[in-house]
Amino acid sequence: MRTIGFACSSAEEDLAPFHFDRRNPRSNDVVMEILYCGVCHSDLHWARNDWGQTCYPTIPGHEIVGRVIEAGPDVTRHKVGDIVAVGCMVDSCQTCDQCRRGEEQYCREGMNGTYGGFDVVEKTPNMGGYSKHLVVRQEFALKMPEGLDISKAAPLLCAGVTTWSPLRTWQAGPGKRVAVIGLGGLGQMAVKLAVALGAEVTVISRSDRKKQEALALGADQLLASSNEKAMQDAANGFDLIIDTVPVKHDITPYLPLLDIDGTIAMVGQIGPLPESSSLPLVYGRRRIAGSLIGGIRETQELLDFCARKNILPDTKTIAIQDINKAFDELEKGASYYRFVIDMSTLKED
Ligand code: NAP
Ligand code: ZN
Repeated sequence: MRTIGFACSSAEEDLAPFHFDRRNPRSNDVVMEILYCGVCHSDLHWARNDWGQTCYPTIPGHEIVGRVIEAGPDVTRHKVGDIVAVGCMVDSCQTCDQCRRGEEQYCREGMNGTYGGFDVVEKTPNMGGYSKHLVVRQEFALKMPEGLDISKAAPLLCAGVTTWSPLRTWQAGPGKRVAVIGLGGLGQMAVKLAVALGAEVTVISRSDRKKQEALALGADQLLASSNEKAMQDAANGFDLIIDTVPVKHDITPYLPLLDIDGTIAMVGQIGPLPESSSLPLVYGRRRIAGSLIGGIRETQELLDFCARKNILPDTKTIAIQDINKAFDELEKGASYYRFVIDMSTLKED
């Protein structure tokens, strides 16, 4: 089907309107009219080819909320008119041990990205959510629970589940001390979710500048990583640290902040780490771990949890025409809120 999105044609160019064809819907597919799409820092990495894998032209966007406008004859989970959501994956093998466990993000054959992946049948590059329509197999469209404000909920599909998954894996809850490095889109969700799970929560930020925001989100305190004395005083203070920093950075200063058996879960930067010492790991049985988004079941669990607890990200709604300005702001890392594109601002002609 013919539709329109905002694409980038090279790492140096701004995103601009782009007409393209979505694949023809198959019997197990739904067609969505996209209503909202969140702006993740991964979209920026992808657009700028930070991971060296981008093929252009490309349309980013993997925090997608929309309305079903067509459902294939084999679709049983959704019907026309339903509000559904799509995150970072649109397909996986569905048969390997990981897919059967509901951890499609670790599919043995590789998860198929909402952008960055290729359609298994047509072999064409997948195009993301900064667009008017999406065609997706029914298993990868989540049910949007009633009561969640859909104009704000889109970031739950990536920022939400990417922080929810390590919080659940390492059992954040009452009595657990959780720290979150970087107060951006992922960071604010990590704070809200860890607080809702009953943990004691600290934001570790580059300076004190975001202190008010951190406290308003429910954190107990903000620790400025630039304050050496405060960092020393915080030694052995956390069971779990979630690191959302989007650029190459030294984790050495954060390791002594973990208590014995504590874990730092890297969810931000993907790529080489600067040299670091094993000393704080050995002298404290501390662990460095990583975590990739979350599975479909886990994402639905998160959406239902957020609906029950009335948890939504702090967002700033923008028109699609403002996406390049939003990217510039995101790159600076100065704000903590998530941009969400109101897709009604994208006209089809
Ligand atoms: P974001 O909104 O830009 O937030 C990142 C935060 O990190 C900033 O607000 C800032 O917080 C801090 N920061 C920024 N630049 C920094 C620097 N040079 N040094 C130290 N700290 C810095 O980004 P996001 O959307 O939350 O995404 C964060 C990262 O997670 C990105 O790299 C993204 O690709 C990745 N990601 C991974 C997954 C996964 O599955 N693992 C999923 C989604 C996104 P302070 O001002 O508080 O220091
Ligand atoms: Zn993302």
